[in-house]
Amino acid sequence: MAALLNEALAEALSQEIGRVTGQSFQIATQQSVSGGCINQAIQVADSSRRFFVKLNRADQLAMFEAERDGLKEMYDSRSIRVPQPLCCGVAGGSAYIVMEWLDLGSRQSGDAWRRMGEQLAAMHQCTSDRGFGWHRDNTIGATPQKNKWCDRWVDFWRDRRLGPQFSMAHAKGAHFPQRDELMNAIPRLLKGHTPTASLLHGDLWSGNAFVTTAGEPVILDPATYYGDPETDLAMTELFGRLPEAFYQAYNAASPIDSGYPQRKVLYNLYHILNHFNLFGGSYASQANSMMRQILS
Ligand code: ADP
Repeated sequence: MAALLNEALAEALSQEIGRVTGQSFQIATQQSVSGGCINQAIQVADSSRRFFVKLNRADQLAMFEAERDGLKEMYDSRSIRVPQPLCCGVAGGSAYIVMEWLDLGSRQSGDAWRRMGEQLAAMHQCTSDRGFGWHRDNTIGATPQKNKWCDRWVDFWRDRRLGPQFSMAHAKGAHFPQRDELMNAIPRLLKGHTPTASLLHGDLWSGNAFVTTAGEPVILDPATYYGDPETDLAMTELFGRLPEAFYQAYNAASPIDSGYPQRKVLYNLYHILNHFNLFGGSYASQANSMMRQILS
């Protein structure tokens, strides 16, 4: 089998994994893992242990450092399973992140989705006393995501989330006739809504939610920050909903506010603008139709 990792990278990963786990490790097999949108994903293993590695250009190290910090914060919350991050760095011309390998299984078990609902609600109970944001910027997909702390959610959503995505889309030539109207309407649209700044996954589309072969719910590939929990829920509905058991259990653990169905379109607009910025194409017209819906 052709090696996926160059020699310098394979050697550095072996050393680093050995060092952080306190048990010597020498990569014996390397296998490509499919399913990602942004990075090259590889399973590395010796005769007894396996790890999940993502690679990108060396200048993308900060993206992996932020992913490591996000995974660590979620892991340390002891609420929902995420892969334990081990290390990241640059070697052999690439940036890398290494984390625990998880055997991802079928998405069939209703009970696992019920537990995911409960556990996500528990993660959302972890709150920040610094307001909305995070201690560092990160990325959503490959797009930079600004997380400077804000006291008010309405300001955060307008200035740190929708505003930068609109600016990037504008620079790429998109035309949003109702952009200014929408930005000005945000205080009205979020009036009376005062969420607690909660630990979020931040990129929780259904493709980042799995059940392990052992039946344990797990969420992957976060864009962590502290914000309105409804934004995580909204994204689970954007590209195909999670099984109903998830929503029932979430709602039983942490009742979903009656204003959520209105806000969810405003929240998912962020991800559709981001998809335009990442992939272009018809996402601009989808964003325009969402804006019409929000303002109607
Ligand atoms: P990207 O950052 O490129 O979007 P992901 O983090 O989504 O990549 O990972 C790509 C795929 O690899 C996932 O869809 C999943 O199938 C698999 N995967 C991710 N993390 C792990 C892990 N810790 N163990 C095993 N497989 C994983």
